[in-house]
Amino acid sequence: MPIIDIKVPDIGDFAEVSIIEVMVQPGDTIKAEQSLITVESDKASMEIPSSHAGVVKELKVQLGDKIHEGSVVLTLETQDAGAAAAPATAPASAPAPARNLEPKQAPAQAPQAQAATNPVASSFSGTADLDCDVLVLGGGPGGYSAAFRAADLGLKVVLVERYATLGGVCLNVGCIPSKALLHVAAVMDEVGHLAAAGIEFGAPKVSVDGLRGHKEKVVGKLTGGLAAMAKMRKVTIVRGYGSFVGANALEVEETTGSAQDKTGGKKIVSFKKAIIAAGSQAVRLPFMPEDPRVVDSTGALALQGVPKRMLILGGGIIGLEMGTVYSTLGARLDVVEMLDGLMQGADRDLVKIWQKMNAKRFDNIMLKTKTVGAQATPEGIKVMFAAAEEGGTTPEPQTYDLVLQAVGRTPNGKKIAADKAGVAVTDRGFINVDIQMRTNVPHIFAIGDIVGQPMLAHKAVHEAHVAAEVIAGELQGNQELASSAFNARVIPSVAYTDPEVAWVGLTEDQAKAQGIKVKKGLFPWSASGRAIANGRDEGVTKLLFDDSPEAHGHGKILGGGIVGTHAGDMIGEIALAIEMGADAVDIGKTIHPHPTLGESIGMAAEIAHGSCTDVPPARK
Ligand code: FAD
Repeated sequence: MPIIDIKVPDIGDFAEVSIIEVMVQPGDTIKAEQSLITVESDKASMEIPSSHAGVVKELKVQLGDKIHEGSVVLTLETQDAGAAAAPATAPASAPAPARNLEPKQAPAQAPQAQAATNPVASSFSGTADLDCDVLVLGGGPGGYSAAFRAADLGLKVVLVERYATLGGVCLNVGCIPSKALLHVAAVMDEVGHLAAAGIEFGAPKVSVDGLRGHKEKVVGKLTGGLAAMAKMRKVTIVRGYGSFVGANALEVEETTGSAQDKTGGKKIVSFKKAIIAAGSQAVRLPFMPEDPRVVDSTGALALQGVPKRMLILGGGIIGLEMGTVYSTLGARLDVVEMLDGLMQGADRDLVKIWQKMNAKRFDNIMLKTKTVGAQATPEGIKVMFAAAEEGGTTPEPQTYDLVLQAVGRTPNGKKIAADKAGVAVTDRGFINVDIQMRTNVPHIFAIGDIVGQPMLAHKAVHEAHVAAEVIAGELQGNQELASSAFNARVIPSVAYTDPEVAWVGLTEDQAKAQGIKVKKGLFPWSASGRAIANGRDEGVTKLLFDDSPEAHGHGKILGGGIVGTHAGDMIGEIALAIEMGADAVDIGKTIHPHPTLGESIGMAAEIAHGSCTDVPPARK
């Protein structure tokens, strides 16, 4: 039987990407189209499928490797006739362009590249309890935004949500509660810094119950507001667990209480069009013991107490944000990360500044290390590690009072009987969509975490508006609305740590890896009057402009990053500049108020342009 190389096919804009998951091992029998590895850029993750069926002979890559088109993933013994000559399979194609699109560059949301088979929809002949123009499944930022926009456009909308409150992960157990806690932590840290300004406070007295109550009040205010807005818009909320029973019908098993307790009651909702916004959930490592001392982000946000020693499994944004909160409250932190750095996706120079400021929170930062086992003991959770790559060091096992699993989130696509509606779901539970957010079934759309990376609320909301507009346009014969599409150039990312780290568009590391010539304007906050006045001048603001010969010295902004307090509040300006195709003069000549941190964006542009007078003169 021939042995062939399975190579990375054309992966479009993903010039060089890191392997974050290896899904097969030597000896495995695999099918054609089966996913082999998952790769990730800062914008998206995608699975690379096998072009052939066969038995894996040898893996040629490992976790953390950087690969590109043509890299050999593995060798495969195959029975496929003509396999030796056959090219590698391309990942599922990029989204089809929508009608009437402004010809911008490729949309920021990368497709989930894994192919999915189109199932045949079941035929449903029962009677419906409710009918509507648009059924929205899931009440998170994607779902409620879609429902509200569709209602505002005059459609009859039913929104199905299994929990008691709207808002999904973001409002209930994600963005908002984490920021409520992070704000308190930042104020506590800030107060600590005031000693240097001659003001001393005593050590803080922490009431965990009081803090939890504060967080719940914040969440309640926002979710209560959503319920009121749904009412104002006459959106019908059906509480329960939804599963498709046909291409135009959803069954809802009614739920009650604060969890998802089923009442036994059922309702059928029939719809003309549907928007799937069922979100994602935290990944749980299979070997982690069932123990209250092992939590995911939801468990960490429940704030049951402050551990002495805490392990953060996964050095991404969610883990580091939660770690910041717990460490300010008194926990000592360890973090374990398989890749070679924390906060992947952000430029290393920005992360370095954050890491220096935060070094005191950590006892151990274990990079290129994997967690291979854990045991619940009376003393704590004993966790075993191993080097993630050959020749690396294996740290000794450690025992923790709390282990936070923050190793990623997995989409809920496989839990909604999407196949009964004919909607294709990938092996990993994602739903592929085009840039109008349409699934393989023309009248069913999908948005938010369930359609892919980046799993961020602001992406979900924008996708939601697109889906609602396209649907309204099609139902009402409004061509302008029907042409709506998700063609954002960039989607900003923010780590709301202290200092915050925010970035958008091309990063400097990507520019280097992809051989893109950029002109950099880097403004150090040590030259910012406001940052110095705030006692927080460790930050930098960095802008990257196209410096290719075609740009003739007037290159447009391609990306930017900020590390510093309130970086997240400022990154939107850089996103706007990228969307508008601004160059260094546009940004530098825009008058920013003085003294502000936002001014640093104008100054970074002036530095790129060579006209900044707030820093020493550039060396000739
Ligand atoms: P979700 O918010 O997951 O909502 C899906 C909804 O569908 C849920 O309410 C769920 O109950 C419901 N549902 C699912 N299946 C069914 C079913 N079968 N029947 C009925 N209902 C169903 N993003 C940011 O942009 N900024 C941040 O600062 C940020 N911080 C985060 C912090 C944490 C700790 C976490 C975990 C996430 C954070 N995120 C943040 C990510 C953000 O929460 C998600 O990207 C966002 O919530 C996705 O919205 P969604 O509508 O796609 O899905």
